[in-house]
Amino acid sequence: MSFKLSRRSLDRLEGINERLQSVVKMAITLTKTDFGVVQGMRTIEQQKELVAKGASKTMKSKHLEGKAFDIMAFINGRASWELSLYDDLADAIKEAAIQLGVPICWGAAWGTPEMPYPMDIRKWEGGEHTYYSEKLQAERTVVYPSTMEGAMNAYIDLRRDQNRRPFIDGPHFELMD
Ligand SMILES: [Zn+2]
Repeated sequence: MSFKLSRRSLDRLEGINERLQSVVKMAITLTKTDFGVVQGMRTIEQQKELVAKGASKTMKSKHLEGKAFDIMAFINGRASWELSLYDDLADAIKEAAIQLGVPICWGAAWGTPEMPYPMDIRKWEGGEHTYYSEKLQAERTVVYPSTMEGAMNAYIDLRRDQNRRPFIDGPHFELMD
């Protein structure tokens, strides 16, 4: 099964960083789950509204600079927000980012114990991770799969070990400077 970006998705990529556009355009040819682009560029007014609604927590969003995009998963043509679909999409974005050499950070795996924020998704390999847990006051060893689901779990573990709440934004990807 191969998918194509809709006209609307292509329009929403307009104005954002060209390397990011290339990643999205390649990812749609690699993905097992269909997706569309929800947002690329954002105006200051749109960002203010999102912060007011609690949908975003920063006025320094990379969307304002054209260095971020949000995607939405489609199952049989219908939008779905089920998180497991987004780590599949992140696998496709990662593959495209590797092939095109573009450093990208994902909103559901901002960092891991070895790679604090921002983590370049191309560098995630999974495997055995041993690190010091503040919460347990001890070393901890966990084996993660090499998929982006594994990266998300590592990020969640990292935050919990710091007694901090993970901030999961599965549709969001941004360019690293
Ligand atoms: Zn976003």
